[in-house]
Amino acid sequence: MADRFETGEGVPDDYEFEHRPETDQSFENALAKARDGDRLTVADGVELLTTGTDADGVDAGRKEEVTFVANLNNNVTTACNTGCLFCNFKDTAENFETDSDEAHSGFTKTPAGSREIVRDAVEMGVYEVTSVSGLHPGFALDQEHREILEASDRGDLNYKSPARYDTDPGTYCEQMAAMSVDGVHLHSMTPEEAYHARRGTDWSYEEVYGRLADAGLDSVPGTAAEILVDEVRDVICPGKMTSGEWLTAMEAAANVGLDTTATIMYGHVENEMHRAMHLKRVRDLQDRTGNITEFVPLSFVHETTPLYEYGMVDGGASDAADELMVAVSRLFLDNVEHVQSSWVKFGDAKGLKMLNCGADDFMGTILSEEITKRAGGDYGEFRSFDEYVDMITAVGRTPVERSTDYRQRRVIDLDDRPHGPELGPKADGTPILEARSRVADD
Ligand code: SF4
Repeated sequence: MADRFETGEGVPDDYEFEHRPETDQSFENALAKARDGDRLTVADGVELLTTGTDADGVDAGRKEEVTFVANLNNNVTTACNTGCLFCNFKDTAENFETDSDEAHSGFTKTPAGSREIVRDAVEMGVYEVTSVSGLHPGFALDQEHREILEASDRGDLNYKSPARYDTDPGTYCEQMAAMSVDGVHLHSMTPEEAYHARRGTDWSYEEVYGRLADAGLDSVPGTAAEILVDEVRDVICPGKMTSGEWLTAMEAAANVGLDTTATIMYGHVENEMHRAMHLKRVRDLQDRTGNITEFVPLSFVHETTPLYEYGMVDGGASDAADELMVAVSRLFLDNVEHVQSSWVKFGDAKGLKMLNCGADDFMGTILSEEITKRAGGDYGEFRSFDEYVDMITAVGRTPVERSTDYRQRRVIDLDDRPHGPELGPKADGTPILEARSRVADD
């Protein structure tokens, strides 16, 4: 006899279940009970089964998304003489002086040079320009600061007149004004740069960040945090500001209305106690300010750094330590909404894996001057929207273009290939590299 699967006989054509996947349980409670060895209830089971899925349940949708931003990196100068032992970015500032014979591979951009690069990138659809630079001795906050530095006879201010250098970087405020083109979001001036921008004065960080914001600054990268424990900073960056000063500067940025990010740079000489203390200080800061939009664990890249060359470290963090750092950051920072996976530090494979360890943001396109200005196939660290979409969907997640502050989000339509940015002031969905011809034609 044929059964009802073959005939369809007796199969109800309409039905409604009494039991639906709805709970008022929280995922964290359910997980904690499981860890404690408590027997799970049906509500616990439903909560765990629906977390991060699109089933009608408690945590639908949002956790499945992975965000990224269309951004440009425009660092103004590599001139620096702070001498951090983990840094391979800086070039000795003396080598940039006009009367130096030392060859160097670094660069300094004038405000006009920065503006041109940013303007082209905005035409190509970027939403954000990120700018983090070496502490060039010729930098001053603005003309008033320049006059104070020029008049000072103190020898400890790390200041030299820009006239002594091949290229004058202008003032910080001039650079901000130059890069603030056509409504692009300007993400710049780390606490360490703000420290440099007030040296030799008694100005508060509020004063400094206020002037920078007036010049065009929109938000502040919370880099230069390294490890916020002074006994570690004394070893890896003795020339840098203290942990307390970093926190003061970040709080000041918040006080004048700027969003910030926060970072940790781990996997060198510090230990797990330092990492946990760092997380606590970031969490306390966020309790006070509420303006930290994301936390970015940066795994120390040891090659070509003095720490490695002097034999003070023999490598960076292990894979397990990286995963734990992301996962524990996610759990510890209950007041910071987003954790970023930095594919530049982790590499692609591990970077994707971190999205399963608690990270929900996958950085940005990292357009560079080389791409906006020069033709050719070497795109360096650049990542296109199509690559983002392919990578994020390959791990079963939903790609979402975001603004720097995450207040604008656009779920990417997978059928609408090729993909390009839509949130930038001049973005119209054209892929970034294709838009380059539009820039070249102008
Ligand atoms: S201040 Fe920045 S650029 Fe200068 S040495 Fe330290 S990390 Fe490198």
